[in-house]
Amino acid sequence: MAERYRPNWLEIDVSAIRHNARRLSELVAPAKLCAVVKADAYGHGMIGVAPAALAGGATWLAVALVEEGLALRQAGIGARILLLSEPPGKGIEAALRGGITPTLYSAGGVERAALAVRGARGAGGARGAGGARGARGAGGAPAAPAGEPDDEVGRGGRVPVHLKVDTGMHRVGADPWDVAAIGRSVAAEPALLLEGLWSHLAAADEGPGELTALQLGRLEQARRDLAGVGVVPELVHLANSAGAIAHPATRLDLVRCGIALYGYPPVPAPSLGLRPALSWKAQVHLVRRLEAGEAVSYGLEQPLERSSHVAVVPAGYHDGIDRRFFEGGGEVLIRGRRRRVAGRVTMDQLVVDCGPEGDVASGDEVVLIGRQGDEEVSAEEWARRIGSISWEVLSRIGCRVPRDVVSDARGEQ
Ligand SMILES: *Cc1c(COP(=O)(O)O)cnc(C)c1O
Repeated sequence: MAERYRPNWLEIDVSAIRHNARRLSELVAPAKLCAVVKADAYGHGMIGVAPAALAGGATWLAVALVEEGLALRQAGIGARILLLSEPPGKGIEAALRGGITPTLYSAGGVERAALAVRGARGAGGARGAGGARGARGAGGAPAAPAGEPDDEVGRGGRVPVHLKVDTGMHRVGADPWDVAAIGRSVAAEPALLLEGLWSHLAAADEGPGELTALQLGRLEQARRDLAGVGVVPELVHLANSAGAIAHPATRLDLVRCGIALYGYPPVPAPSLGLRPALSWKAQVHLVRRLEAGEAVSYGLEQPLERSSHVAVVPAGYHDGIDRRFFEGGGEVLIRGRRRRVAGRVTMDQLVVDCGPEGDVASGDEVVLIGRQGDEEVSAEEWARRIGSISWEVLSRIGCRVPRDVVSDARGEQ
C-alpha cells in the first residue's frame, strides 16, 4: 500500500455488506439477489464489496460500465456480471470478451453482439472468446463461477444477453412495441441466447405505487410478447432496492439492489436490520483559538458568537463534501460530540467550531459519516442537509480518499 500522509480515509465494513446481502437474499427468496456495484460500489470500493456481497448470497453483480465489469474480472471475480446499459462502439465486444453479460435494446446492439461472438469464434476456434467461460479463463479469473451450468454445453454454445424494455422510466430500453421484433432477432441468431428480460422502476420509493404496478404490467406484457414469438427468457427482473423491499410483486426472478446493500434502505425497513457499511474518518489537523466576532474560511461568512476553538479537518469538496454542507448546518463528530462546520467548505479542508472549552487537539479522530461514542452521522443526514439523496452522497466521496476494508466485531448476524 502506498504511504499515506493525509489522515482522511473510509472504513468499509465488509461484514455489514455480507450481512445486508444475506438479509436481502432471505427477504426476496426464491428470487435471487443481484448486487449493484456500479460507481465503485456507490463509493465503497467495488473490489472489496463484490466478494462480500457474493459471500452473503448475491448470485449476480451489476455494473454501469464495461470498464467496471472488466475491473471485477481482473480482480479474479468469476460471478455473473450484468451490464446495465448497451454500450456504444466496441463496448459490447469488450464486454463479451470479458464474460460480462450485456444489456441490449436496439437492433444495432443485437447485431454488434452477434458479430462480436462470431468474430471471436472465427478467430479463436469453436470455444472462441465470445463464450463467457473462455473469456473468464483468459482474463485470469476462475474458468466458471461456482454453481453455474456449463453455458457452452447447456446452452448450445449461445452467449447470454439480456433485453431491457422501457416500461415508463423513459431513460434507456427498447420501446415496448419493439420487444417482439428484437426478441425474434436474438432468437434467430445462433450466437446469442436471450437469457433475461428486464426493466427499471421510476418511483418505487415514492407515492402509492400506481406507477410501479403499471410498470410491472408492461413488463409482463413484454414477457407475453416474447412468448408469442417463441422466446422464453429464464430471468425476468424489475426491482431495485425500493421495489424489492416495498413491492414484493416486483421481485420476480432477480432483484437488483444497490443502496440497501450498503445499509441505506430507501423505504423504512427497520425489521430488516440493514447496517451502513461505510464510515468516513479523519484526524484533526490543527486547532486554533479565535475571538468572538471572528469568522473562518472564504468570505468570512459566519462570525463566532463567542470565543471558540476551531479545528481544521483535512477533507474538502474535492473529497465529496458538498459546499452546501456549511449552509445546511453540517456537523462532524469529535470526542463523541457534534461539531458544526464553521465556514465555507474549501477544496481540501473544512473548519469546525469546537466551542470555548478547548477539549479538542490536533490528531483527534473526526467522524464525518459513521458513529463515535453515542453519536452517529449518517449519509441520510448529509443528504437532508444538502438537498440530495444518500446515493449521491456516498457515490461522490472522492477518489483520493483511501478505502480501508475492515470487518466489524459483530460479524454477520
Ligand atoms: C442503480 C440501479 C439499480 C440499483 O438501485 P438502488 O435504488 O440503489 O437499489 C438497479 N437497477 C438499475 C438499472 C440501476 O441503474
